[in-house]
Parts: sequence; C-alpha cells; structure tokens
Amino acid sequence: MTASFDLQHIASCVSEYDPNALRVDAALAVIQGSVQPVQAVERLAVRAALGRVLAQDIISPIDVPAHDNSAMDGYALRGADIAVQGDTVLRIAGRGLAGHAYGGDVPAGSALRIMTGAVMPAECDTVVPQEFCRVEGDTVILPQGLVRAGDNRRLRGEDLARGKAALPAGKVLRPADLGLMASLGMAEAPVRRKLRVAFFSSGDELRSVGQPLDPGCVYDSNRYTLWGMLERLGCDIIDLGVVPDNPQAVEAALHTATTCADVVITSGGVSVGEADYLRSTLSRMGEVVFWRIAMRPGRPLAFGQLRANAHKAWLFGLPGNPVAVMVTFYAFVRPALLHCMGASPQPQPMLRAVSAQTLRKKPGRTEYQRGLLTALPDGRWQVSAIGNQGSGVLSSMSQAHGLIMLHHDQSTVQAGDLVDVLLFDGLV
Ligand code: AMP
Ligand code: MG
Repeated sequence: MTASFDLQHIASCVSEYDPNALRVDAALAVIQGSVQPVQAVERLAVRAALGRVLAQDIISPIDVPAHDNSAMDGYALRGADIAVQGDTVLRIAGRGLAGHAYGGDVPAGSALRIMTGAVMPAECDTVVPQEFCRVEGDTVILPQGLVRAGDNRRLRGEDLARGKAALPAGKVLRPADLGLMASLGMAEAPVRRKLRVAFFSSGDELRSVGQPLDPGCVYDSNRYTLWGMLERLGCDIIDLGVVPDNPQAVEAALHTATTCADVVITSGGVSVGEADYLRSTLSRMGEVVFWRIAMRPGRPLAFGQLRANAHKAWLFGLPGNPVAVMVTFYAFVRPALLHCMGASPQPQPMLRAVSAQTLRKKPGRTEYQRGLLTALPDGRWQVSAIGNQGSGVLSSMSQAHGLIMLHHDQSTVQAGDLVDVLLFDGLV
C-alpha cells in the first residue's frame, strides 16, 4: 500500500473541496486519488480467473484463426470463375471438412465442397452457401448475382493476429475473455490477488440473525447487503460481526480489521450521535476525514487510512441507515475497490428513461431515488420513483430495478423528462 496518505495534498488537487458540503464527484476524486491497487499477481487456471482483474497485457502468440477457412457450408471457388452473365457451372473437385483439409488441387473452373471451419484451398477465395447452389452429378451450378469474390471466407488472424494485444491489463475478465484466452491456447491467466475487505456493524441496538430481537432493537441487515455487494465484486470477505457502541470494542474491531484486510468498511456511528464512539477512535487510529456529502441518502461518510502495527488499510465509515449504506457503497466504495483491485476505470452504464412523475429536487446535491422501470409502447423505458424513499426502507431497495440519479446541478424533473438510471442488474 502507499507510503503515506497525504489527504491535504490530495484534497488540494480537487476543486470545490468543502468537507462539510462535499460534492459526490469531489469526494470520489479524493478517494480515487488516494487508494492504490494491490500489486501481487497470481496465475490461475483460465476458468478460475472469471471476474478477476487481468494483471498483464495478453499478447497473442498465434494467429486466430490459424488458416483462412470457410464461414459457411457450401462450395469454395475462385472469385475469378464467377460468370459475369448467367449461371456459373463448376466441376466439384473434392471435399474439405473442418479438421480434415482437402489435400488436392482445385483447378480453374472447379469448386470444392466445403464445410464451415474447413481450411480454404490456397487457390480459392470465395465460398458460396449451399442453399444458393444446385448440384447435378459432379457439377455445381450457381445462379448469377448471389455472391461476390471474397464472400464467406474467414481470414487467417482476423480474430486475433499473432504479436498483437489480445486483452489489456486491468480488464475484469468476462466469459468472452475466458474463451478468448482458450482460443490462444492459454491454460492460465495472470490476475491480481483478491482484495481483502473486512466489515462490521456498529450499534447497541443491532442484533444478529439467530438472536432474539430485544425490545427497541433491529436485526443487522447491513452485513448482508455489504456481503452481497462485495461478493459480486469478487472480494475476500471478513465479517467481524456487530460491535457495540463502546470505544474499547470499536477499537479492538478496527485493529483486527486493519491487520487482516486491505479495506475496512464500517456502518453506523459516523453521524453526530451521542453514543457514536467511532469518530474519536478512527481519528486516533489513522488519518481519517469526516465528510458531509451533498447527497441524499448518505450524508455522513468517513474516509481515510488506518494503521495497526505494521499494517495499513483504507477505511470507509458508512452511515448506518440500510439504504444509505448501499447508495454510498455504489457511489464511493465500489469504484474505490475496483481501483484497488487493479481494474481499469470503466464508465458506469446508465439508462436514460422517461420520468413517470414530477421529482422535486433543489440543485446543490446529488439524489438517488429507487425506481421501477417499465417498457413504453414506443420502445423507450419509463421510470417511476417508488413510494417510500426513506433511507431506512430496504423493501423499496429490494423492489427497485435501479437508482434514479438526480445530478448535483439538476433541479426539479417534470413528468416526461429524461433521467439517468443506474441499473442494479446487467448481463453477468
Ligand atoms: P447511525 O448511523 O448509527 O446513527 O444509524 C442510523 C440508523 O440506521 C439507525 O436507525 C440504526 O438503527 C440503523 N442501523 C445502523 N446500523 C444498522 C445495521 N447494521 N442494520 C440495520 N440498521 C442499522
Ligand atoms: Mg448508531
């Protein structure tokens, strides 16, 4: 991890740095300017590398495909033999199958019966799909105007050329990438090591699943939403449970977390409440800033670096409210973790959808509203804000397809206006 974390310096590079009313983009810039990728690399079997971050560029050692080959079942011929007027009539010289190349010649005026993936004879440059042809004895007849020279032939190296970059370092490996590596004959992939992320929930009122729910208490749900979001990112997760509102317990948990993880996430206890000991303890253990972010939900946020013996870890102190935890995770923690994992920056895909209703909003903060999508008859998407947007209401988060993102400078949205929607689900 970094030599030392100089927040003042990083913050001075960010315009509009006001810790008491920090723009979402300014806070994210400070965070991204601070955290560093893990360096260790491991080699994994290609399948085990799914979802991991590629540590080095992959240069293709071979041409893919290795030979010119047919893209169709049909007849390979010389483009020059295609008649300008009337039918083309060619003698069938033989047969080439995928994995069984035709060994002989294909003289001028003849064609080769060929299957998809079969090696193209050197003399031929064109394939006529079989459904265009008529076969009579040992001749094949092709009506005029159905193919041009060069059609239906896959060129050697057209997918990946030998010596060229096939995959860039920093890519989060998707199913297509596994297939691509296999197509190069690679059995293993170099990936960055997994990020270790520890978390705990803080609050005397929290009970864990399996315990009786005492009067005035709530079950701890944040450790489940956090687990889900971290698992999807492919982190190694260390769940440190519920920690009561008491300075010794909080300090012990932070100490354990810092010694075993790259990143520590806490929820609850960062707002200015009487029983919230987290702030003073965090300040003692490292360089931590307490921000009030110009956003809703999720205003209080702590960020910094903790030290315990020779260990260092990045700290995200999230608010306690269950929806605020998820929103601040998506807004700040997720991009920071991807950066720590060594992933190249990726734009967050947003859907532009028609707002079904007026959404009241004052410029000067970013707002995230839980939204339901429906397809309009004209093919556009419409989004409606779900009734209960309380920051403790997890049920509307569960129902939502995504978050309507009302940007910092945006004002009230009228019904029919287009808005940005961050989708919870993609093609995974
Ligand atoms: P705090 O940020 O600690 O002031 O908590 C704000 C609100 O979120 C309170 O109503 C807490 O009871 C609730 N809360 C805090 N942590 C959790 C948690 N882990 N699971 C469910 N609710 C929580
Ligand atoms: Mg609390």
